[in-house]
Parts: sequence; structure tokens; C-alpha cells
Amino acid sequence: MAFDYDLFVIGAGSGGVRASRISSSMGAKVAIAEEFRVGGTCVIRGCVPKKLFVYASHFAEDFEDAENYGWTVPKAKHDWKTLIRNKDTEIDRLNGIYHTILSNNNVELYESRATILDKNTVQVGDKTVTAKYILIATGGTPTMPDVPGIEHAISSNEVFHLDEMPKRVVVVGGGYIAVEFAGIFNGLGADVIQLYRGEQILRGFDHHVQAMVAQEITKKGVDLRTHANPAKIEKTADGLAITLEDGSVIEADAIMYATGRRPNTEGLGLEAVGVETSLNGAVVVDAFSKTTVDSIYAVGDVTDRIALTPVAIHEGMAFAETVFGGKPRAFDHSNVPSAVFSQPPVGSVGLTELEARLQFGEVDIYKSEFRPMKQTLTQGSERAMVKLIVDRATDRVLGVHIVGADAGEIIQGIGIAVKCGATKEQFDATVGVHPTLAEEIVTMREKYTGD
Ligand code: NDP
Repeated sequence: MAFDYDLFVIGAGSGGVRASRISSSMGAKVAIAEEFRVGGTCVIRGCVPKKLFVYASHFAEDFEDAENYGWTVPKAKHDWKTLIRNKDTEIDRLNGIYHTILSNNNVELYESRATILDKNTVQVGDKTVTAKYILIATGGTPTMPDVPGIEHAISSNEVFHLDEMPKRVVVVGGGYIAVEFAGIFNGLGADVIQLYRGEQILRGFDHHVQAMVAQEITKKGVDLRTHANPAKIEKTADGLAITLEDGSVIEADAIMYATGRRPNTEGLGLEAVGVETSLNGAVVVDAFSKTTVDSIYAVGDVTDRIALTPVAIHEGMAFAETVFGGKPRAFDHSNVPSAVFSQPPVGSVGLTELEARLQFGEVDIYKSEFRPMKQTLTQGSERAMVKLIVDRATDRVLGVHIVGADAGEIIQGIGIAVKCGATKEQFDATVGVHPTLAEEIVTMREKYTGD
């Protein structure tokens, strides 16, 4: 049977665009559908604008530190509208680049919503098209709990478009997005209260990272409240009020929920065609990203494996090589490095101490906590931490966790060593770069014996 396309991709985010481009370069005739803006969450309302906001917010501290290095800095003032305007210009530029990538690679773009009609047919706008393969790359969307008044709260979708910079901000959640935005608003001068329902933020991270980030963001001014559960949100004469289950009331100009994301599978037609989804709506896939229907694949956040852009890109490339390159490849999801752009940031790769103890039994811990050199001339009290987890039997480094300036940059290189299975002896044989925070990674000799 002749199809209109070899591949029809639904969703032009990081995973979908990469998969379509590589498939096309391998000779496939490819089309892609996008109902919002080409680029996906990361580019349009995620990683990229978030990182720009992190840069913006960090200047406050830099201005303060500058004085101790001899600079006279006039009282700095921040203009929110300028930040939003410049950020929008940059996002428009990147959006344009994504359009160019698609057209330069002969990928036909349908700017409308697509739904799957059968295993080779897609409805896109008012057209019906057929494809030998369909790739679902629809990403995820923020979820908010069903709290009375939740319609007054914003998510990470709206936060990039606020008309005014809120002066009093409540951030609900304790994950990546909550911690990052608590730091952003705090740096930009807002009074920030972060509410987390559990005992310790950044669940799933190494426990020393969790404690260190909680300590450092609190020192910088974020009012972090744990075991805090919102009961309702109301509009007031001069803003919003959030009432907690313990009866306390907090007034705010903006309440941001960062309580997780769910896969975008609603209304895609998956059930009718036989594509299995999990309880939270994620598309179930095998190691090659194939769904329960042979001609339909899925990559990225919609599969709820590891919700990170570079992972979606790798999954997209592995898909293309498997289906159109004649080289079946399952992407290896182990030892994926990642960063949290909290202030200070986190860089992590490999196992947490708890995971390592469960999987390997006997592990050795190396941990160094210190005052970064830059702080020696400033009034700042920020501390940094580097931690290594080593398998005692093989000497292999199982996990590396960093909290401190540029942790995200540092962990990229360390990620290569951990992916290659480097041993502690090999780390030790590596000469440190002096004076840097990163040199601690190769200079720790004493085992840590604390909790
Ligand atoms: P996360 O899953 O990381 O965190 C969600 C947070 O909300 C958790 O603290 C969770 O608590 C809490 N929560 C969940 N439900 C409720 C509820 N009903 N009431 C109160 N609190 C609740 O999600 P994020 O939205 O922060 O981020 C989504 C994903 O996006 C991340 O997992 C990450 O993969 C990706 N991301 C990556 C970034 C990066 O690489 N720097 C940046 C931003 C996002 P609990 O711990 O108790 O479950």
C-alpha cells in the first residue's frame, strides 16, 4: 500500500523535530504536526526562557558581591517588561530556527492538531493523511491539584507571560520547577514562600543534595515551608490569599503551582487504535520506543521515562536509526546527567547514595562541603558540596552530585567519565584544575562516614 508519508510525527518539540530531521536525512518522506508553536516546551515555555530568567535573577547577588571586589554599583533596579520583551524576542528567534530546520530538511509542517484514526492514518486539521509509521512526540503539560480556587493560580505555562513582576509569590511544589522559580522570583526581589507537602524538597535526589539546596535557598531568602498543604485559594481586594490546611493564610500577588506534569495523550485517539497507556496517561513503549501497535512509536515526555529534552532528542535519534537507518538502537537511559537551576544549582549523574546502597550494598562515600573561593571576599555565606559514591567491590564511581556555582556545566564532563565506568582510582589520577570548585571531584581522599 502506498502511503502519503513514510513518517508522520505528532508534536514538534525537541524529540519530534530531531526524529523527523534525522529520518528525512535517511531518505524518509516526513511530515510533522504542531498545534501550538514549533520548538516544544523546552524552547517555548521551559528550559530556555527559564534559564534566561535564572540569569536575570542572579544579577542581584552579583551586584552585591561586586562591591566587595572594589566596584561601586549604583542601586540596581529591575524592569520586568524589558526581561519579558527580550526573552520573547529570543524565543521568536529560536522558533524561527526550528521552522528553518524543518523546511531545510524537507519535513512538511502542518500547523494544526493531529489525532490518530488508525494505525496508519492521521487526521490533521481538516485533512486525512496516511503514513507507514506514526511517531507520538506530544510532550507533557503541567498538572494542578483540584484545590478550590485553583483557577487563580498559574503554572509554568503562564509564568513567562505575566504583565507585572509579582512582589509576593507563593510557589507550590518541591520539584525541579518549584525550586527553580522560587530562586528566580527571590533573586528578582519578590518575597517568596515555597510550600512543599513533604519533609524534604527535590524528592529522588541524593539526600545531601536535598538538604544542601533547602539550606542554601533558605539562606538566600526563600521562605521554605514543609508539610504545607494548600486548602483553598481566594481572590482578595489586593491580590490572592492561599489558606493552608492548618488554617494559616498567606497573601500573595501570584501563586505558582509546580506540582508535576502529565503526558499529553488526551484526545489523541490512542485507545481506539490500541496504543496502550499507563495509569497517568503515558504511552507505553519498548526499549526501541515502539508502542503496542507495530507502526506507532513514541518518544520524549509523553512516554514518561526521563522527562528531559536531551533524552527526548536521543530517543528521537535512536528511533530514526532503528526505523529508517537499518540499525536498531535502544537508547540507554542509565547515567543521564542533569541539572537543577536552583540558586546555587545542582548537577547530578548516576545513582544517589540510597540507590547505590540498595543496588550495590557496600559503597564508599566521599563528600566535601566548603565555602567557594568567590565568597571569600563577599558577605555571602553560600556553601558548595561535592559528593562521590563509589562501589567498594569494583572501585567504580556510581554517582556524582554537585551543589554550587556552575554545577550544571561541571557535571556534563563528569557524566562522560561516569558513563565510561571510570573508577575512583582514575578520578584520583586526574589532575585538578586549580583553583576551581570542580577540582574537589578529583582531590577527595578521605571517606565520609557521617549520615
Ligand atoms: P516534579 O515531579 O519534579 O515535582 C513535582 C512537585 O510537586 C513534587 O515536589 C511533588 O511532591 C509536588 N506535588 C505533586 N502533586 C502535588 C499536589 N497535589 N499537591 C502539592 N504538591 C504536589 O515536577 P516539576 O513540575 O517540577 O517538573 C516536571 C519535570 O520536568 C521534572 O521531573 C523534570 O524531569 C523536568 N524538568 C527538568 C528541569 C531541568 O532539567 N533543570 C527543569 C524543569 C523541569 P512529592 O515530592 O511529594 O511528590
